Amino acid sequence: MKIASIINGAERMDGSGETMEVRNPYSGDLVAEMTLADEKLMEEAIENSRQAFQQTMKKMPAYERSDILRRASDLLEEKQEEFAEIVAREAGKPIKHSRAEIKRSIQVLRFSSELSKHMTGEVLPMDAALRGDNRMGMVKRVPMGVIGAITPFNFPLNLSLHKIAPAIAAGNTVIFKPAEKTPVSAYMLAKLFQEAGLPDGVLNLVLSTGKVAGSTLVPHKDVPKITFTGSLTVGKIIRDTAGFKKVTMELGSNSPNIVFEDADIDDAIERLVNAAFGYSGQVCVSAQRIYVQEDVYDEFLKKYVEATNNLEIGDPLGEETDFGPMIDEDAAKRIQEWVEEARNEGATIETGGDRKGTMMYPTIITNVKKDMKVVKEEAFAPIVTLMPFKTEEEAVANTNDSIYGLQAGVFTKDISRAYRVADNLEMGGVWINESSVYRQDNYPYGGVKLSGLGREGVKYAMEEMTEMKFIGVRL
Ligand code: ADP
Repeated sequence: MKIASIINGAERMDGSGETMEVRNPYSGDLVAEMTLADEKLMEEAIENSRQAFQQTMKKMPAYERSDILRRASDLLEEKQEEFAEIVAREAGKPIKHSRAEIKRSIQVLRFSSELSKHMTGEVLPMDAALRGDNRMGMVKRVPMGVIGAITPFNFPLNLSLHKIAPAIAAGNTVIFKPAEKTPVSAYMLAKLFQEAGLPDGVLNLVLSTGKVAGSTLVPHKDVPKITFTGSLTVGKIIRDTAGFKKVTMELGSNSPNIVFEDADIDDAIERLVNAAFGYSGQVCVSAQRIYVQEDVYDEFLKKYVEATNNLEIGDPLGEETDFGPMIDEDAAKRIQEWVEEARNEGATIETGGDRKGTMMYPTIITNVKKDMKVVKEEAFAPIVTLMPFKTEEEAVANTNDSIYGLQAGVFTKDISRAYRVADNLEMGGVWINESSVYRQDNYPYGGVKLSGLGREGVKYAMEEMTEMKFIGVRL
């Protein structure tokens, strides 16, 4: 399969002439060959998106945007198996999890279709202010123009749709720059939107390196907004070059989960195995730090190791597979080094620690110190650390001792404690009796501290992709 950028409805094999291979991280099989866009093609795409905003999107009524998004969701539902399979092949995500991702993506399109009809503003009581008599004031929400959407490999479809669908719902046009590792689902998505009747130029897919996006898209004068999901390192670079533009940043975390002694331990274990090892921990809200209250620590550890060892490991395309490879060998080697470093500093590897090619086995680490990389930095890998604690205050203080603050999970049956802890955690979101990894697509999702800027979740993303415009009348 050969794929290329799609600009103004046309596939652009010209690009820079350079190509890149997309390979299945498990088998090494060739999935596709993509032609990369250079700076010139990116410029052309941006100019086309600018024109499409002026000539097409500004005139398109909300009911039409809504219909297109609804058709896209129906088409994705019809083709869900095809999309799930490609995500499994290009990202190495177990097919069960890939299917779940596509189901969520369908919903994101449906929420966007519905909300495109509800971009309401407000009428202000102008006479509340001195000299305001005989005046009327209203606030409208208006689209911003060309939105630059830069996305990562880990949820190649759903995290892309969290940007593209609200952008279209709000009446913008989009330059879509997917991750180099997972361009095939992105390409299929652009085609799907064409089939759903989205006019040419409203969604321009630019398959390029991060470098081209960074030098051309991010600082471009005709792109008023960049929405990015990815690593803190790249997020910082983008923030620095974006200058005065608005940016939404969904970055990482070393997500904490707290298990109190009164929790339903078996239930917590089931959820936390998935939270730590689902898609090999390559999830922004993957459980990386688990704080367990002293009295139940030994029981938790024993059962947690057992449950982890029961994961079905293998080919992402296998129906029974729970756990597959990492995205590439470099990622797996990097995390293995972190684990070795922790071991040399006195940590105990309770299970895992080994690697074969891209496969890093599920790894549980105890006897850690808070300044070890495996605790303090974002692992984005199938490793998790377990730490005992005595008091609630200690658990809260340890949890907050991080540069990140995205989502946390708290397991307890004590409702007062649950709310108290939720209030005291420095996080964008807190789940009670659910793990940090759980997310629904209709609530505000995003981080505090270095986990990000702004929020996603269709309604909230639409707010970030529109401007408020005040219109006043002197009667
Ligand atoms: P991940 O490895 O999780 O995909 P990255 O932060 O490395 O996270 O990449 C996320 C996205 O950012 C990708 O689409 C990548 O191509 C893009 N990217 C990488 N470097 C830059 C950059 N300097 N400017 C803009 N985008 C970049």
